[in-house]
Amino acid sequence: MKRRTFIKNASLSGAGLAVGTTLASCAEVNSEKDKPINTSTVSSVPLVIATWNVSEATSKAWEIIDTGGSALDAVEQGCMVEEANADGQSVGKGGLPDRDGNVTLDACIMNKEGNCGAVVYLQHVTHAISVARKVMEDTPHVMLAGRGAEQFANEMGFQKENLLTEKSKKAWEDWKVKSEYKPIINIENHDTIGMLAIDKNGDLSGACTTSGLAYKMAGRVGDSPIIGSGLFVDNEVGAAVATGLGEEVVKRVGSFLVVELMRQGMSPQKACEEAISRIVNKPESDFKNFQVGYIAVNKKGETGYFSIHPGFSMTRFQNGVNENLVSKHYIKP
Ligand code: ASP
Repeated sequence: MKRRTFIKNASLSGAGLAVGTTLASCAEVNSEKDKPINTSTVSSVPLVIATWNVSEATSKAWEIIDTGGSALDAVEQGCMVEEANADGQSVGKGGLPDRDGNVTLDACIMNKEGNCGAVVYLQHVTHAISVARKVMEDTPHVMLAGRGAEQFANEMGFQKENLLTEKSKKAWEDWKVKSEYKPIINIENHDTIGMLAIDKNGDLSGACTTSGLAYKMAGRVGDSPIIGSGLFVDNEVGAAVATGLGEEVVKRVGSFLVVELMRQGMSPQKACEEAISRIVNKPESDFKNFQVGYIAVNKKGETGYFSIHPGFSMTRFQNGVNENLVSKHYIKP
């Protein structure tokens, strides 16, 4: 199928899905949403939290923190676990490709000083998060894209690799039969990994890494590498990270919003809920047809997590216990 037809399909499905989904008329909205939510939050540091069920990744990060390492090292190395996992089809090696069969990665990282680094549309390098860290630490810039990002990675010693595994190639070939562009997002138990950590010094860092939407248009970049949207860290207040349909997170500058709400006194849980409500309450919001989830932590080590739809979860390593916590959500199943 030709590109023009792909684009047409994308806009047609978008227009079709948007009909009749305003919040006011939505009977499925969770009537319990205003009730207090028991998130079993405890205020204790250090800790590590991450989007989805990624206990190996949080274990790695905890190991670093537990042995006196920094939150920055912890989030980088935690994310690397998932990037190297070729079975996971939404992060690093084995990520699902764009429509043209190219695996393109987006990632960003932010430290306690408020410095950040990001890569967008990076190809042929598994550890996008480490390249993002190099951008932060070894360049005067905050973001490198495409061929320039790849060239920089190679200069920094990252090896060129084929990221398209047989499994993901097969999925893409199957998809091409119909070539329907409907971003059914977050239906797997594993997706974009966003990780936040507080180390033994009480300092925060965060990281976010993804292969983005499967079968996206070539060149598409989502929220995950955009500081303030996919990730934001403020060492005085707390940090937040997002997963889901990146376009909707970018429009609300979601992670920055969560952190600012915490600065104004909201708990991490309430801040995540409020940030989700800003998306679903947008006029003509098509929220029934896409997922967004946020996780957040404040300086005290209290955590929060909330999503539009069921299916989202957060992994938390705190007090030596690694648990996967199913998120409360806006819409009933
Ligand atoms: N937020 C990512 C993006 O839009 C995708 C995801 O979290 O699943 O690229």
